[in-house]
Amino acid sequence: LGRASQIFSLENPSSAARAFCSVSTPIRATLFPGDGIGPEIAESVKQVFKAADIQIEWEEHYVGDQIDPRTQSFLTWESLESVRRNGVGLKGPMATPIGKGHRSLNLTLRKELNLYANVRPCYSLPGYKTRYDNVNLITIRENTEGEYSGLEHQVVRGVVESLKIITRQASLRVAEYAFHYAKTHGRERVSAIHKANIMQKTDGLFLKCCREVAEKYPEITYEEVVIDNCCMMLVKNPALFDVLVMPNLYGDIISDLCAGLIGGLGLTPSCNIGEGGIALAEAVHGSAPDIAGKNLANPTALLLSAVTMLRHLKLQDKADKIQDAILNTIAEGKYRTADLGGSSTTTDFTKAICDHL
Ligand code: NAD
Repeated sequence: LGRASQIFSLENPSSAARAFCSVSTPIRATLFPGDGIGPEIAESVKQVFKAADIQIEWEEHYVGDQIDPRTQSFLTWESLESVRRNGVGLKGPMATPIGKGHRSLNLTLRKELNLYANVRPCYSLPGYKTRYDNVNLITIRENTEGEYSGLEHQVVRGVVESLKIITRQASLRVAEYAFHYAKTHGRERVSAIHKANIMQKTDGLFLKCCREVAEKYPEITYEEVVIDNCCMMLVKNPALFDVLVMPNLYGDIISDLCAGLIGGLGLTPSCNIGEGGIALAEAVHGSAPDIAGKNLANPTALLLSAVTMLRHLKLQDKADKIQDAILNTIAEGKYRTADLGGSSTTTDFTKAICDHL
């Protein structure tokens, strides 16, 4: 568990976050429960925080698939301001229409709040057996540009165009975050994942920036791996990697692959880091409409995301306490949700975690 707690600590707390630590209690944090399974797993976080006696005031804002009737928009200025003011927040999943409809709210939040690095830790859970017992990876995903820039249009009928934007500024920023993270978390290697053999200009620039930053960190081993080969290597032997940094789309895909190595999307947390040190934690998974409203969702990923939020606030003892309770509940095996082969409901599993605190 010691190693796990190291994995979940995030550096560079914002001045806002530091201020909260010094004022001690209560912490104010923004909560977007989201949609699909979001409200169920957000409720689980609230219950576990309460049982762990964490003095927190959740500023809850609805952002999801329903329009705000007051503003006729999906995302209000109030919601964004809440995160900016608090410096920390927790976000549930938000569904995005496929192939039509409004722009992804997840992307909009990341863009508006300039959440430039998405840190996605993934490690084997003690006592939960999968093909590997030695997964210990950190995916750091550039979060603001690449194929997710939202620049798509029809050129002529039957031909559409999508622009992939890579900038020196965003690439240097995320590379710097990755190397700094590696250095401050006792990590030895940073792998830049790319497809610069085909995307010569865009991924080429991304790599050039990673190389520049790598020179400032001679103590960290730097390597470049083509994404297709990276997938093969991860599936064959995940221990070959340590910290992985990559453009937006690749990070989205690789982190799901990593989740599959340790037991699935119900387990993997993440934290979005922004300029000024804003931290908006969220699970890697989506709104899971197939199980929404059925009390079947595994709240672990969102709970571990909430743990990253506590670490960001330097509340290490509270974070350790909750993390240990989650991992011990899963290791014990009596209460597990269906995605982990158990038969517990979200509610029962949450109660078991509270009992382990
Ligand atoms: P998903 O992650 O929602 O679900 C994929 C599979 O994993 C489903 O079978 C689901 O039941 C399972 N799963 C996911 N989380 C789980 C949990 N906590 N417990 C148990 N099982 C879990 O991916 P999807 O179905 O491709 O996407 C659904 C919606 O979510 C889409 O609208 C998509 O755009 C959106 N999405 C949002 C985010 C986000 O908010 N950051 C991320 C990914 C997808």
